[in-house]
Amino acid sequence: FLPHLVASLEQVDETYIMVKPDGVQRGLVGEIISRFEKKGFKLTGLKLFQCPQDLAEEHYKDLKGKSFFPKLIEYIVSGPVVCMAWEGVGVVAAARKLIGATNPLQAEPGTIRGDLAVQTGRNVVHGSDSPENGKREIGRLALLASFTLVMDISRLEPLPLFFLVRYLNYAALWFKEGELCQWTPAQAPSLRE
Ligand code: UDP
Ligand code: MG
Repeated sequence: FLPHLVASLEQVDETYIMVKPDGVQRGLVGEIISRFEKKGFKLTGLKLFQCPQDLAEEHYKDLKGKSFFPKLIEYIVSGPVVCMAWEGVGVVAAARKLIGATNPLQAEPGTIRGDLAVQTGRNVVHGSDSPENGKREIGRLALLASFTLVMDISRLEPLPLFFLVRYLNYAALWFKEGELCQWTPAQAPSLRE
């Protein structure tokens, strides 16, 4: 629990990356993980997961009403996905660059979608589009919100309660408590002899 909370409070940049079912089925998991590793970001969560319908709908709730929404949900639940949390300075925007444009035909060569995909509806990978959504998708905001409540009950201010209610809707989307790891690289100066 504590590292989870500390990561929230420190406002560490983190993003939610997911290999979609087509990426898993085409054997692209290693390739996709490798691109984020080589760039220099830090993996803090990783699991193979069969996404249930309601989670897919919650994840993509901003797209509800779009004509492609039902097909998108069908696609996301059609087989296991690989869920990942990645950490690092500027990781949200950098990951979007590594992933490339939503339509793989418009994605630059050198990007994941530009190199590995053809169709928008089968674009192999997801990446959070903002730091706020990164936290929401990984599942950090519930903890941030609980902290806000403790702080503000002592001051008896009602406004933060509104935030609590709002953030609780966002509670743990793809990762649960205990599924994320905090670790220090072996080459970190503090661990040298
Ligand atoms: N999508 C689709 N048809 C569209 C637009 C989007 O099937 O016309 C799918 C596609 O898989 C995309 C996902 O919906 O990755 C989410 O759309 P968004 O606009 O958020 O794109 P992304 O953030 O993934 O680049
Ligand atoms: Mg998006």
